Amino acid sequence: MKAKGLRGARSPRIMRTHSAGRIPPPTLLRNPVRLELNAMGLTKVWVEDGCILCNLCPEVAPEVFVLEDEHCWARPDADLDENEEEIRQAAIDCPVGVIHFEEE
Ligand code: SF4
Repeated sequence: MKAKGLRGARSPRIMRTHSAGRIPPPTLLRNPVRLELNAMGLTKVWVEDGCILCNLCPEVAPEVFVLEDEHCWARPDADLDENEEEIRQAAIDCPVGVIHFEEE
């Protein structure tokens, strides 16, 4: 007599644990972004050609960046000390990397 086997029984499955809370995504491990909060002060900020008018930098640093019909620019009289963190963040976040600055 044929033994009643496992027909119909569910085979064991390997349970995968969700590791999102323990290990950072690989992109963060390969491309760490560090804000140098202790860096020296900024002396100059400007926007090079190539802006795609995404409106990000005026939102991040509205006292520094101005977006007009055809281009974006940095106010020459902007308080760089007061807006240093926002300027650095805008330069990091700009999708085309056209925001630049000099520092002491
Ligand atoms: S973040 Fe960059 S692309 Fe976007 S408006 Fe500012 S300069 Fe232009």
